[in-house]
Amino acid sequence: MKEKTSLTIREFFAQFPSDESCLEHLFEARFGQGHVCPKCQRKANWYRIKAERAYSCQWCGNHLHPTVGTPFEDSRTPLQLWFYSIYLFTTSRHGVPALELKRQLGVTYKTAWRMGHHIRKHMEAVDGEWPLFGQVEVDETIVGGYRPGPRGRAALGKTIVMGMLQRDGDVMTKVIPNVQRETLHPIIEENIQPGSTVHTDELISYRGLKAKGYNHKSVTHRLEEYVRGDCHVNGIENFWKHLKGSINGTHMSVSKKHLAKYAKEFEFRFNSREKPSSMFPALVSQFPQPST
Ligand SMILES: [Zn+2]
Repeated sequence: MKEKTSLTIREFFAQFPSDESCLEHLFEARFGQGHVCPKCQRKANWYRIKAERAYSCQWCGNHLHPTVGTPFEDSRTPLQLWFYSIYLFTTSRHGVPALELKRQLGVTYKTAWRMGHHIRKHMEAVDGEWPLFGQVEVDETIVGGYRPGPRGRAALGKTIVMGMLQRDGDVMTKVIPNVQRETLHPIIEENIQPGSTVHTDELISYRGLKAKGYNHKSVTHRLEEYVRGDCHVNGIENFWKHLKGSINGTHMSVSKKHLAKYAKEFEFRFNSREKPSSMFPALVSQFPQPST
């Protein structure tokens, strides 16, 4: 059965009608009444301090700031606009270009761009990373390459992204400098549990995985072999198609420096595919330390 769909825009504004309601949500999600005061160590009631975005301990007057450690911490942009931006990110299949945010929020391009950047970083942190296991498809692809220059993996302006997709599980992406064995193998060893079956194409760099405790199967794309038994990399190729289509369609050009973040955004969305309605509540309620 399909679960409840994402919030409608009407539901969003009913739930978050003001900056105050957003702050209250952050307080409840992160602390809540009865939260033990970090200063006096007593279970406390907390009172809203009107002069700042803070709550005060009933016993010692210590302040809790619900936005500290969140993407909104140092921002003067109203909280409701942040929440709305996150809402847009979770309801769009293709991501939200800075220009679109600028237009919808009425902020400067620079502000919109920075908000998008922070939201992507936050998506990455909330998504988290766990070792993959079982049947895992591994593949690399080239993203970008609009600048004139030589074609191929080393061409200027192109970025190589490696992807690992656990069938019926999570996808994980890494921007890599090249497709040498010395690059690919350590990433596989670090992120895929030994004993797993690794599906790849015929790229020579993938050879030698058996010696490292993996069951390795490959298809020979060069010979137009796309499936052999249960071996294929169609899952990760679909992910590439979606990632590249979205970047080409909306972001125009993504620099090498930022591509990893864009990929993480799509990773988060992909990994939430069975429960898309959980994305927005998770992003406004969970604030793990960023991995960077
Ligand atoms: Zn206290």
